[in-house]
Amino acid sequence: MKGTLKFGMVGAAALALAITSAPVAAEDGPTSADLMNDASTPGDVLTYGMGPQAQRFSTLDQVNTSNVKDLVPAYAASLGGEKQRGQESQPLVYDGVIYVTGSYSRLFAFDSHTGEKLWEYDARLPDGIMPCCDVVNRGAAIHGDKIIFATLDAHLVALDRKTGKVVWNKKMADYQAGYSATAAPLIVKDMVIYGNSGGEFGIVGEIQARNVDTGELIWTRPTVEGNMGTLNGQPNGITGKTNASWPGDMWKTGGGATWLGGTYDPETNLIYMGTGNPGPWNSHDRPGDNLYTSSTLAINPDTGKIVWHYQTTPHDGWDFDGVNEFIPFDAKVNGKPMKLGAKADRNGYFYVLDRTNGKLVSASKFVMETTWANGINLKTGRPNFIDANRPGAPNGSEKGTSVFSSPSFLGGKNWMPMAYSKQTGLFYIPSNDWGMDIWNEPIAYKKGAAYLGAGFTIRPIAEDHIGALRAMDPATGKIVWEYKNKAPLWGGVLTTAGDLVFTGTPEGYLKAFDAKTGQELWKFNTGSGVVGSPITWTQDGEQYVAVMSGWGGAVPLWGGEVAKTFKEISQGGMLWVFKLPKR
Ligand code: CA
Ligand code: CA
Repeated sequence: MKGTLKFGMVGAAALALAITSAPVAAEDGPTSADLMNDASTPGDVLTYGMGPQAQRFSTLDQVNTSNVKDLVPAYAASLGGEKQRGQESQPLVYDGVIYVTGSYSRLFAFDSHTGEKLWEYDARLPDGIMPCCDVVNRGAAIHGDKIIFATLDAHLVALDRKTGKVVWNKKMADYQAGYSATAAPLIVKDMVIYGNSGGEFGIVGEIQARNVDTGELIWTRPTVEGNMGTLNGQPNGITGKTNASWPGDMWKTGGGATWLGGTYDPETNLIYMGTGNPGPWNSHDRPGDNLYTSSTLAINPDTGKIVWHYQTTPHDGWDFDGVNEFIPFDAKVNGKPMKLGAKADRNGYFYVLDRTNGKLVSASKFVMETTWANGINLKTGRPNFIDANRPGAPNGSEKGTSVFSSPSFLGGKNWMPMAYSKQTGLFYIPSNDWGMDIWNEPIAYKKGAAYLGAGFTIRPIAEDHIGALRAMDPATGKIVWEYKNKAPLWGGVLTTAGDLVFTGTPEGYLKAFDAKTGQELWKFNTGSGVVGSPITWTQDGEQYVAVMSGWGGAVPLWGGEVAKTFKEISQGGMLWVFKLPKR
């Protein structure tokens, strides 16, 4: 404990004062070093992604391919209320408590042994919030005595993790201009690193770093070329070079939302942050590559500067947000050990990059078809565009030529995080096979209004499935196995040293697969669609698995012709926790 003795006070009185007036020390709870170690401490889950690299791999093997069939519920806990929309959260577990965020910006603490609710925090949201894709939240961050999450009105809120009382509450951006927030915060070196949402409203993507104890702003880094970053309140350099890849003033409303947050690699000291679509969707309004939208950015957390970038979809015209998680991993390339990173992009390609410099190593299709490009040029790193499949320019006030495009704008993969098994060396990608008719329309920017300039209808492209969980070998770019699901997959993936892969389905199941073969080994119906990310940890010598259940997210809002695959699914809001029966 920290305490401050004042001069002139001696003995027991001074000591008592020191103890009673001591602020709750930051050492009371996980430190930034503990967060960096999260992947190797299976007794807790301290970070979104189960480690700053977000591999979602657990070293636990008590539950494994031979006994997972016996997995049963230990308990379940309801989020209650009428706010049963998409539950895309990943729980955290620390010191006998499960922390989980819920739809409509709620945060809950449950006893990790019994599921009893300890406290609940409900953000008081204003009436005009503008989330594009359901009122979801993907998780919290823990540090010291605090639990931190973002709210749909673009605030970042730190709560006392024991009581749920607000410690600080900071406005990140103006929700009335279309900004919102749904990602889980990332904590690096006692800073909360956060990316904004709102790419469908002509916002400017930005990453902010704040002091974890006070919420005070340390640096900002806009993602759209031409906008100025800050450090300690001072200008800290323009992002890119103004008008190098944007015409006129388009960069002032250029999108590039960092709405899925980021990963961090302690070995390279880089934050990897994906950026969303450029605004508006109509690409004919903004000739150029439109940096740094639809990209992965590597950012130095000490300076807030971009160290490298890799743009997966230059001059995007299909809403191919490049926000997907970039997962660091180590492997040999042509016999040489390399620090790599992988990303399964919304555009349907799985990219492996050198994570020290952003150089492309390989790019492989992981979906049934990509109509917009025919592969990625390994020399230039750019897609081989199929120009005829870009939606046409509007003609005066008339809409432009409609094209069929696959993947659909909801992506070969959307927000739902993949996992990497250190044991099999495979990535497990929750993907979808679907296309869309898409066309462009005239559009002008108006504050707080949708800024698309496009229309669309989503369509299935296969008879038997939309969702597909795919095991990708990053060394060969080949799909080793796949599991097809009738409805679109929209939940995160977990893999374990027990050679298991867990993921949920809209039909309500949490399922376990053999990590090597893809054989389905276990399933349990949670009563509503599973679009959350499962976790596992060990407690009192037993391995637990937990996942949120509660159907929602972007799919039912934008589903078009694919909606018939999930029209009977009920909403919900439950935390489910499983373990093996006691022997
Ligand atoms: Ca841990
Ligand atoms: Ca988007």
